[in-house]
Amino acid sequence: MPGRHFLHIPGPTNVPDRILRAMHVVMEDHRSPVFPQLALPLLEGLKRVFRTQSGQAFIFPSTGTGAWETVLTNTLCAGDKVLAPRHGQFSSLWIGMAESHGLNVEVQEEAWGAGASPERIFAALEHDQGHDIRAVLVVHNETATGVTSDIAAVRRAIDAASHPALLFVDGVSSIGSLDFRMDEWGVDGAVAGSQKGFMMPAGLGLSCFSQKALEAGRSARKNNPLRRSYFDLEAMIASNKTGYFPYTPSLPLLYGLREALRMMEEEGLDNVVARHAHLAGGVRAAVTEGWWLKLCAQDPKSASDTVTAVMVPDGFDAREVIARAFQRYNLSLGSGLTKVAGKLFRIGHLGDLNELMCLAAISGAEMAMQDIGIKVESGSGVAAAQRHYRRKA
Ligand SMILES: *Cc1c(COP(=O)(O)O)cnc(C)c1O
Repeated sequence: MPGRHFLHIPGPTNVPDRILRAMHVVMEDHRSPVFPQLALPLLEGLKRVFRTQSGQAFIFPSTGTGAWETVLTNTLCAGDKVLAPRHGQFSSLWIGMAESHGLNVEVQEEAWGAGASPERIFAALEHDQGHDIRAVLVVHNETATGVTSDIAAVRRAIDAASHPALLFVDGVSSIGSLDFRMDEWGVDGAVAGSQKGFMMPAGLGLSCFSQKALEAGRSARKNNPLRRSYFDLEAMIASNKTGYFPYTPSLPLLYGLREALRMMEEEGLDNVVARHAHLAGGVRAAVTEGWWLKLCAQDPKSASDTVTAVMVPDGFDAREVIARAFQRYNLSLGSGLTKVAGKLFRIGHLGDLNELMCLAAISGAEMAMQDIGIKVESGSGVAAAQRHYRRKA
């Protein structure tokens, strides 16, 4: 199909030309004396995006899923108990990984459309007088449902219970796009990937550990630590100290990350976050004030600024909207995963994006819905989003 493709899934996201060009490099010696000039600033730059000064950043060749594994296996012991809310596909998958590693997971079931409940987390921790719960696992932005959980409130809940549990946060679809404050919120293990807010191809599993988490890892090592080999931090820490990696890094991805960090710093992280909120506001206006459809997010305050999950009316299959958008309009929308398959489609609005790009996605989704018989008025979503966007000076 001529013309550009409109990629509006919540990851991978559009890779800006600057990053594409930055990745177009010849290979070089990753043990050369100049290699640390590339690697060391990346680790420092990541800390600024995670908003940590005291933490330590890691770059593994993997994806967000590998970063989940890095955080769990380098801090916990076989049989350790962890607490984890489940309210969507990504929280489910992280819980599944924890279980498959032999962790004892106390799952807090929440509705798909709700977020983590700080009140229930407080209650569970207060009840845990023996401090058996070693960590709380929270997905900051549940990409499957478009719901953002309040991590600052989770931290307050842990502190109110005077509980020593570590706080691990999946920020794969939030870090670098939504407000995220590792140090301020006392996050001990934070996880991201390269293909969402970082505007890159998939391939880097990014994580940051607090000093408390690193210490927990050292003491776990003396007991019965979870099995790991490739994702072991020890060799990584030793090599990173001088700006190297224990094995061959992906040079194009490292050059891409350097450019991505530059772009975020040029725009300013606060401006990046504000831009995502502004763009998301327009998409939500299209859904609720233009189309009169419902968000999957139950509480409007928790609706995500990086992805909007749109419920289609009863009797319609969201998969048909997605197929029509792709085949007829060259637009990729995100699908409903497992429990919500067919019930919703998702518009990703994170990364390298502006107002007109969002209007194009809204317009395409609107036409695709009309084409399969959903009663939405021509131009209604676009008009509602335009009104929202024009309000900004
Ligand atoms: C995309 C995503 C993941 C999985 O990351 P991969 O890079 O695909 O391994 C995990 N958690 C959340 C919240 C995500 O959005």
